[in-house]
Amino acid sequence: MTTRSAVPVPASHQDIARDAEPATLAANAALAARLPFGDTADFEAARRGLVAPVPEGIVATPSGTVLWNLGEYAFIDGELAPATVNPSLWRIARLNMANGLFKVTDRLYQLRGFDISNMTVIEGDSGLILIDPLTTAEVARAALDLYYAHRPRKPVVAVIYTHSHVDHYGGVRGVVDEADVLEGRVRVIAPAGFMEAVSGENVLAGPPMIRRAQFQFGALLPRGARGQVDAGLGKCVARGTPGLIAPTQSIEKAVEEHTVDGIRIVFQLAPETEAPAEMHMFYPDLGVLNMAENACPLLHNFIPLRGAVARDPRIWARYIDDAIAMYAGRTEVLIGQHHWPTWGRERIVDYLEAQRDLYKHIHDQTLRYMNRGWRPSEIAEAIDLPPGLAERWSVRGYYGSVSHNVKAVYQRYLSWYDGNPCNLHPLPPAPAALKFVEYMGGAEAVLARARADFAKGEFRWVAQVLKEVVYAEPENRAARALCADALEQMGYQAESATWRNAFLYGAQELRHGVFQMPSRPGVAADTLAGLSTDVFFDLMAIRLDPARAAGQSIVVNWTFTDRDETFALTLKHCTLTHRAGAHVEKADANVTTTRATMDRIALGKLAIPAAIQDGAFKVEGDFARLAALYGMLDTPGAIMFDILTPGEGR
Ligand SMILES: [Zn+2]
Repeated sequence: MTTRSAVPVPASHQDIARDAEPATLAANAALAARLPFGDTADFEAARRGLVAPVPEGIVATPSGTVLWNLGEYAFIDGELAPATVNPSLWRIARLNMANGLFKVTDRLYQLRGFDISNMTVIEGDSGLILIDPLTTAEVARAALDLYYAHRPRKPVVAVIYTHSHVDHYGGVRGVVDEADVLEGRVRVIAPAGFMEAVSGENVLAGPPMIRRAQFQFGALLPRGARGQVDAGLGKCVARGTPGLIAPTQSIEKAVEEHTVDGIRIVFQLAPETEAPAEMHMFYPDLGVLNMAENACPLLHNFIPLRGAVARDPRIWARYIDDAIAMYAGRTEVLIGQHHWPTWGRERIVDYLEAQRDLYKHIHDQTLRYMNRGWRPSEIAEAIDLPPGLAERWSVRGYYGSVSHNVKAVYQRYLSWYDGNPCNLHPLPPAPAALKFVEYMGGAEAVLARARADFAKGEFRWVAQVLKEVVYAEPENRAARALCADALEQMGYQAESATWRNAFLYGAQELRHGVFQMPSRPGVAADTLAGLSTDVFFDLMAIRLDPARAAGQSIVVNWTFTDRDETFALTLKHCTLTHRAGAHVEKADANVTTTRATMDRIALGKLAIPAAIQDGAFKVEGDFARLAALYGMLDTPGAIMFDILTPGEGR
């Protein structure tokens, strides 16, 4: 396989990345000694049923842009972890290299290693049921092509989205023609609340999520023993064109059974777990239980590093237990939409019970400490996986970590505030850093002591204290370099792929600065079209600049003829609100248009004057007031915000 890189990487990075320090070697060796490396059952499961590997080479656009290339990971070949990779993380990085078309059982196949997630194929009576068509059209198409190279070329008759995360629906346009959906030839099935969850989780706070996801997945890190080795759930998120086709059928009841192209499917809703809208499936005739993303062979996230509303591990554990109670007795194979299956009823029950107890344990123990007055970072230090769980591979923190999941539980119940009023109104990071460094005798004095602590292997503290120096003096090269060195060692020690990626990418930005990427529209066209008009106006409201709106009141009535919707939009107190199904009598302007036109305007593909000219946007009343309103909105900016340094105006 070629080792061409899918991402532009500063050529100098690998030269600057340092060796593992003695403290890192010791920490990694200590973990290796504790874990059961003799248990290689997962390696057999990950290979079982292989029909054909992902074809040599790469998924690329016609112009040659590389979208997916497992060849970048050719360095992951030996059993022994390099000194710069946590040995347990190395293990799953090897497992996640298993790739190709796999036969799981009669009529059920999986395509793994085309993306971070799996696409599952069930062979129905007349065609194919595709479950979770990956992140982008290009990789989903490539995956289906591999299936067709080895199995009969039957048409896709149904697509099922297990949940509302883009790696489970984004590639749908690569495997389905929307016309076939609109004309009823292809069913698209999703859990209740799917479209609301897609917009709720990823649209309103989209830009910082994209930026923070760069740290979580390490997409802009070089691949290598001193760079990105994995993302926990899979190697990395595929690049290419994400899209969305809205579901035609929503699962609304706690448990619903449907027959899809001759295949009986029992849907079990599991909302507010790994995603706000998620469901499990049991296929009684195949003896297969599909837990979507709620029982992966690792510790998942209660809040991912990219940011999200805190998830509910208590209810998550309950839905796993419900699945055990309802389906495990009839299950021969357990599958998920990431990683490899588990075969055998006893193993499956054992595995699911461990997952259930993993989430419940972290939840319960966090509450136990919270109820004794402990603070988030103290609880994170105190709790670890209990004996009986800790030595199981399937619960290790490859994606989430006990530490940040504990903090998510705290946040869910008690918020960001630890209750200490000294933390209620502190100075923001940059002015506080100036004071800290001044009190500590200046940057040079801090650096001298931090160098000594680095030599002792106190990397956590070195990063913590040098953050203050870097915030006080963002151009201090020595402080940036030492802070980067400390983060790098923390990355080398991290068992969680997302921690490793965050630490190493932090080091990369401290050393090289922020890699500037061309800005792109904040919301993809398909996602925008899928938004309710309610959320569409929310998206407008969060762009309002109060300085430009000061002292103004504006009311605009809207009629969207393509959706048969009316809205009244009101600017008052420098705040935009909207009322659905209403028009206000004394509005400044009345606009008649379509949502499709509004979407094109929002995407920058159409200007309002041009829309007015071709009759797609009709304004009665005071056009100047409408124009003034638009003039108060921020233009969506670049997303490469400063994170390791304070940033402008702060
Ligand atoms: Zn996923």
